[in-house]
Amino acid sequence: MSFKKFLITGGCGFIGSTVVKHLLKNTNSEVCNVDKLTYASNTKSLKCIIDKKNYTFIKADICDFNNLNKIIKDFKPNVIINLAAETHVDRSISNPREFLNTNIIGTYNLLECALNYYKTLNINQKKIFRLLHVSTDEIFGDLENKTKSAREKSSYNPSSPYSASKASSNHLARAWHITYDLPILITNCTNNFGPYQFPEKFIPCVITNALQGKKIPIYGDGLQFRDWLYVDDHVNALIKVSVEGKIGETYNISTNNELKNIEVVKIICKMMDKLIKIKPKGINKYEELITFVKDRPGHDRRYSLNCKKIKSELNWLPFDTFHTGIKKTIKWYLENQKWWSKMV
Ligand code: NAD
Repeated sequence: MSFKKFLITGGCGFIGSTVVKHLLKNTNSEVCNVDKLTYASNTKSLKCIIDKKNYTFIKADICDFNNLNKIIKDFKPNVIINLAAETHVDRSISNPREFLNTNIIGTYNLLECALNYYKTLNINQKKIFRLLHVSTDEIFGDLENKTKSAREKSSYNPSSPYSASKASSNHLARAWHITYDLPILITNCTNNFGPYQFPEKFIPCVITNALQGKKIPIYGDGLQFRDWLYVDDHVNALIKVSVEGKIGETYNISTNNELKNIEVVKIICKMMDKLIKIKPKGINKYEELITFVKDRPGHDRRYSLNCKKIKSELNWLPFDTFHTGIKKTIKWYLENQKWWSKMV
């Protein structure tokens, strides 16, 4: 791989830490991880690579323009992958400002700093430089009444402050490519799951609540459809896009594996029934913990992405099914209670 230096923003989060570990384990790249260390981060996720010589961590906010400019200038990356974001939809409803700051202004800063740096490169260095901006299926809004999945060029129709801020950041990234020729790639992906995900997110919340014998909350009627992508498959796709993707293009990443939220919870509960012999007091089956709660305002019923483009153009395929991925995930939360117990 001719791409030797990766700057990852948000590398202490769920997907970012998986990207950082993947690069350091499977390539000989140098990695610089820039993360503000918000509540959603966990430096313990990177314990196994912290001492590697080709790894640097810098605590920094992507909204801090001067600092970010200096970090990029000093590190001299070939590839920047932007995973720094505020990501929890419920928090975006109660406190939207942070989402607008990090997801919009932070992305703007990163684009400007990357452009400043890009302008200093010679022709050969320019040829290999690229910035991959990571986004979400939520920008396309609710697809409940559509039988089809969103394609890369479908129009954006976000419903929440989170998805609106992510849609804005995609527009900015695209504009910086078209207006300033900055080599940009964009990916939109479906819901990720796997080890090291913050316990307030849907799947870890189900598993960790069940393990503690706490109620498993389900919003509304639980009939919302989501497509589930195992985090390692997502990370493989991100590396593939950042190295082989065509500059200026957007790629959807999904598994065509749509499940209703209630189905997801029941699959997890049944799998936990099989895997765990001693259940919390008073419980015979984990499904007994399921509790329907008031729906989230503006809760979209269905997200779905068409991912034919990444499959046909970049030959990417997911390795895990929902069933294989969820088994690994449950086992991980079972064996790593120390990692999550202080966060719940
Ligand atoms: P996460 O919340 O687990 O991690 C985000 C990381 O960004 C944290 O380590 C946090 O400290 C850092 N961060 C936040 N604000 C920052 C700032 N201002 N400056 C520097 N660092 C900052 O998120 P994740 O699930 O790993 O998601 C990563 C990206 O993938 C996001 O852009 C998200 O929108 C996108 N995405 C995630 C999913 C999913 O299911 N997890 C699905 C689709 C898209």
